[in-house]
Amino acid sequence: MSESKDFLRSIVEEDLKSGKYKEVITRFPPEPNGFPHIGHAKSICINFGIASDYNGHCNLRMDDTNPTKEETKYVEALKDAVQWLGFDWGKNVYYTSDYFQKIYNYAVELIKMGKAYVDSVDEEQMREYRGTVTEAGKRSEYANRTVEENLELFEKMKNGEFKDGEHVLRAKIDMGAANMKLRDPLLYRIRHVNHHRTGDEWSIYPMYDFAHCLSDYIEGVTHSICTLEFENNRDIYNWVLDTLGLELPRPYQHEFARLGINYTVMSKRKLLELVEEGKVSGWDDPRMPTIAGYKRRGYTKESILNFCDQIGIAKANSMVDVAQLEFCIRDDLNTKVPRVLTVLDPLKVTIVNYEGSEVIDAPYYPHDVPKEGSRDIPFSNEIYIERDDFNENPPKGYFRLTPEQPVRLRHGFIISCKEVIKDETGKVVELKVEYHADSKSGSDTSGIKVKSAIQWVSAKEAIKAEVRVYDRLYANEAPESLEDLNSSSLTVIKDALIEPAIVTEKIDERFQFERQGYFYADPIDYTDEKPVFNKIVGLKDSWGKKTAPKQESKTESKKQAKNEQVVGTEVAMSDEQQALFDKYTSELKLNAEVSNIIARDEKLSSFYADALAELNSPVGIANIVVTEVARELKEKEANELNFTAKQVSQLVKMVDDKTISSKIAKQVFEEMVKSGDNPDKIVEAKGLVQISDPSVISPIIAEVIEKNPDNVEKFKAGNNKLLGFFVGQVLKATGGKANPQVVNKLVAQALK
Ligand code: ATP
Ligand code: MG
Repeated sequence: MSESKDFLRSIVEEDLKSGKYKEVITRFPPEPNGFPHIGHAKSICINFGIASDYNGHCNLRMDDTNPTKEETKYVEALKDAVQWLGFDWGKNVYYTSDYFQKIYNYAVELIKMGKAYVDSVDEEQMREYRGTVTEAGKRSEYANRTVEENLELFEKMKNGEFKDGEHVLRAKIDMGAANMKLRDPLLYRIRHVNHHRTGDEWSIYPMYDFAHCLSDYIEGVTHSICTLEFENNRDIYNWVLDTLGLELPRPYQHEFARLGINYTVMSKRKLLELVEEGKVSGWDDPRMPTIAGYKRRGYTKESILNFCDQIGIAKANSMVDVAQLEFCIRDDLNTKVPRVLTVLDPLKVTIVNYEGSEVIDAPYYPHDVPKEGSRDIPFSNEIYIERDDFNENPPKGYFRLTPEQPVRLRHGFIISCKEVIKDETGKVVELKVEYHADSKSGSDTSGIKVKSAIQWVSAKEAIKAEVRVYDRLYANEAPESLEDLNSSSLTVIKDALIEPAIVTEKIDERFQFERQGYFYADPIDYTDEKPVFNKIVGLKDSWGKKTAPKQESKTESKKQAKNEQVVGTEVAMSDEQQALFDKYTSELKLNAEVSNIIARDEKLSSFYADALAELNSPVGIANIVVTEVARELKEKEANELNFTAKQVSQLVKMVDDKTISSKIAKQVFEEMVKSGDNPDKIVEAKGLVQISDPSVISPIIAEVIEKNPDNVEKFKAGNNKLLGFFVGQVLKATGGKANPQVVNKLVAQALK
């Protein structure tokens, strides 16, 4: 169990202590309409985690009330994900469809109580009658039907005597309720479609709001944990269970914040689009944020569990940095996997003064990994090195092989370049080098100073492999559409060379290819004849590096000169940097990657300290420092900037108190860079204050809806994709100033 108790666990403990429940029963209730993603992993960890912490039980329940979208392969993927993460749902997987008869009986009961009625207005009228946020709705005349009429009609609905949409069953609650969800919500609708489990048995299907609470009740669930967007549905949940007067104990709903990760889309609808449009190879494409994708890529379950634990459980929605997930997998593999030598872009090297061959015994693991094992690396006069590791015209601070500078072959000898052979286009095709016989790693008496060690493979014994280098699927931090995809998210290298032991000894499936990153033998395409490896993650966060400048810094060069063992591992921090890093992660609660970037860069850390002295908002300030400020500091010194740390803290404050959205904050920042004006002045001059007031936003929504009757029609016909279109139009109409969460909510309501 995590050390600090989250709010859900506090509730559970309270309920057990007060005797409200004898045993905790939770459930994980996915709709089987897509593969589970990392957000589901969070929910799985919460539901199964809480059950196991308190010796309870968690049910795996397929919420299969929406027959057109569900498929058996999704059920299998869900089971697989839960199992892979190490959780146990016990004997049975539950299905909401198993309760269709019981749920139907409860509906009949409500009708008999006069608490539900068959409504027969068309969709348009129903919408009109629902009212608006500011106006009460109106009950349809059909609400006056007698209990007998209702019972008869409902039975006929069930028996398939009506067409889709002809009638619905509604709860009789309150058409004037402030919570619009309570305005006589739908309980059942007619759908003549085949269901993946019940076939053609049913012509009517219960709505989520009716089926979910009852399924929870039927299973004896105590804590029904869901994400925040269901907050308003909680009133219906309670109404149904209370109105039916069900025997206690009954379940209660509790909401937590759903997981969002930057550079990632998480909605199953969008993931399905990627699959259907062929943007990825399938649900398990290693770039997908699905459990199947992470699994195929080579993520370990420990890294995912650790990530879910680190992000915690909160009541407010927030965005997690994808670098944090990448950090978790790197962190896990660092202490586990063997290190091996591979060359992805081979350059031939002939060692002119070496004859014959030998094998070099090299340990698989560095000293700080508590594992043993070594392999023989064949060595001969013909080897390959990484093309990148030789440079004829080296920039300052280049530590690898040059015509003047020797380099060590990892685990082997030091070599010096004697001749550079080029083809007619001037491309280097081969190096002739000499080795130093007395420089062998471990028994070096040569006295030659080198600044780094590089990976290599022996030409004769090296094995050809396909290496799939994966990068983030989206280039945009907040991806919205397919246009935000990262065009270089996959590079396939067909002719990489790997040392033979990887294939012959198979000491593991995951490896650190020294200096390249962590790699995984593709579980589907790998064969010994044609090895295929997936890149799991790089050794460092290259994305962070793009924004926060970091050359081969002084400390790094010192370190490299002193100790070649830095090959392939993260360069250690100085004591000062380490102290900052510790403070950032423990005291200021920054994530490790952000802390890493700021702590290692003196300009950033001092700017950060200055801003923090003005405003106590460590995370908000850090986020802008690692991105926007870092970009500016890349070319300039702090005293050359047009803006000050104080102004940045003022900007963060405006985001914190919701005066502006974080999207607008970037725009304001750009302006600060140019003009040096205070952010509040810029916001005022440009009228950028965030709009959250429904009375201002609703008329804009009404206008957008009115202007797009075709899309309204399509949306109502089931094209849910258009919700985003409407939200986008409204945001656009306000110049990006409207609070997106508020718009989302209001648009969804308006289109109902
Ligand atoms: P999506 O919007 O991706 O389709 P969903 O909420 O419709 O997701 P379900 O299959 O209905 O997906 O969800 C199953 C469970 O997983 C629910 O309890 C839901 O709250 C939870 N869940 C889904 N997405 C997330 C997320 N991003 N973070 C945390 N929990 C999530
Ligand atoms: Mg759903």
